[in-house]
Amino acid sequence: MRVDAELKRIAARMFDLMYDAKGIGLAANQVGLPLRMFVMNLAGKRGEGEELVVINPVLSKPRGTEAMEEGCLSLPGIYHEVTRPRQITIDAYSLTGDPIRGELDGMLSRCVQHEYDHLEGVLFYDRVAEGARQQIEDELEEFEVDFESRQSQGGIASDEEIARFCAEIEQRYCQPK
Ligand code: ZN
Repeated sequence: MRVDAELKRIAARMFDLMYDAKGIGLAANQVGLPLRMFVMNLAGKRGEGEELVVINPVLSKPRGTEAMEEGCLSLPGIYHEVTRPRQITIDAYSLTGDPIRGELDGMLSRCVQHEYDHLEGVLFYDRVAEGARQQIEDELEEFEVDFESRQSQGGIASDEEIARFCAEIEQRYCQPK
């Protein structure tokens, strides 16, 4: 993937959206961008903590297990305990195109695994034990009704607008050279 001014602009915009939504991480495909990229700041506030842009991540060597409560900007208001590996090794690229390699644990490991899941089309909800899922499904149904009514009132981009934007981005970044 090329790292160019346009990609930097997209990353900056993703940080804006993430801070506005009071999140600590945001994956590109959560906002309709077909890129294997996510942004994170564990402090959750502009000017505090460290901003990370992670491009084309590969995770390996999961070690240990840990249960921790998670929430997600794609599932507003829903929090649940999720069991994941405690430590993970990441290989990726930064926004300067430099390789990132590290062994992660704690919140950093947790958040990276959550955002990586988004790129794979997996929500934390998919990792919740069967018994707890019904309750979450009921909450999700309410959220979907709300989203559709906001979309029909023009408060959220239409599916057609989203599709057009994705096609543009895809052409720019995802075409084979
Ligand atoms: Zn999420």
